[in-house]
Amino acid sequence: MSSSRYPHRYTHETSLSPTKNNALYKQGKGQGEMSLERYHTLCAAIQRKYEFTDVPADFSKGQLFPRKGITFDHYTSYNLEPVLGIKLHPRQDGTIHPGDIKVYKSSFVDSWKCREGGILYCIGEAREFWNMVLNYHSTANTTGMRQWDKLFERLRKSDFDKSLIPCMWFAREGGCLDVACPFSHDKEACILDREKVLMKRRATLGRPTMRDISLREQRQLAQHRENSKSDSREIVKHEGTSALELWDDSVDDDEEELDPEVDRIFKERAEIKKICSNPDCLTARMTKKSQRESGKIEDPKMMVCTQCKITYYCSVSRIWFVVVIIVTRLGMDFRKSANGRIGRGTKWNRAAPSTSS
Ligand SMILES: [Zn+2]
Ligand SMILES: [Zn+2]
Repeated sequence: MSSSRYPHRYTHETSLSPTKNNALYKQGKGQGEMSLERYHTLCAAIQRKYEFTDVPADFSKGQLFPRKGITFDHYTSYNLEPVLGIKLHPRQDGTIHPGDIKVYKSSFVDSWKCREGGILYCIGEAREFWNMVLNYHSTANTTGMRQWDKLFERLRKSDFDKSLIPCMWFAREGGCLDVACPFSHDKEACILDREKVLMKRRATLGRPTMRDISLREQRQLAQHRENSKSDSREIVKHEGTSALELWDDSVDDDEEELDPEVDRIFKERAEIKKICSNPDCLTARMTKKSQRESGKIEDPKMMVCTQCKITYYCSVSRIWFVVVIIVTRLGMDFRKSANGRIGRGTKWNRAAPSTSS
């Protein structure tokens, strides 16, 4: 079942010989050394056998502030090099802001390389990994990844059994070349994981992005606030109507949860089939069910962007884009020819006769 394009993916070479296959054998040795160092980093992280150090700012690299580093003086099973110059940002109570944890998690989950290489690969992304470890040892008591938390527990209980940890090379193009690799080589689990990612991609293909949905909601909320301004309280902060201006303005007014219109705006999310990606437009095409229920039979024509083939634009926005493009091009052509024939500074003065010819 190995894919034909990368026949070595999901393979573990156990019969390479240092004499007959020297180059590959050496490569495997290199893989093994890297895996082992990452393994010990992981063990030190789980057992909290690390200390912090301050790294002065390196002005030659444009750094203005000192950074943090991690040293492993109390980890004796392996001589680990310190990890220097990373940004660690625990809060007063030692936890990492949940929003940051979420970002770190998705940077791992959504990356092919991280999924293929597993936790040993992710350790190489030092800032993400170490902030998650700090969070694990705080009162939050989690790395932010449930699978990692579970793995940490199993490793503790098994005296850090290497065979519980996925090999960081096995699912990658070249496969695992370390003949003595002690880590897990579970082809079925890897293929299943790959399928999961593909299924997720397929499911979200053609669906509006979260960014577009949020922009649309925020604009509707702003309009709604504008309309219900009658109660003397000044609620509207923004004058602009461009949705992009509203993007940074998070809505966290608890009172609004009681407002049925606000409730409707958020519930509508599930009924959106497509959104025009022009941030000043954001026209949405709703499901047939929601059109029937609201009594609004609107079916704007949505066309896929000819460049990226993923983004949709409504026909109105599309016409405007074409007009803008044509006008811009015409302007450029005109300037070009004006520069060529009449010379500088006269490009808008069509009446001025050319005297040089
Ligand atoms: Zn391996
Ligand atoms: Zn539009």
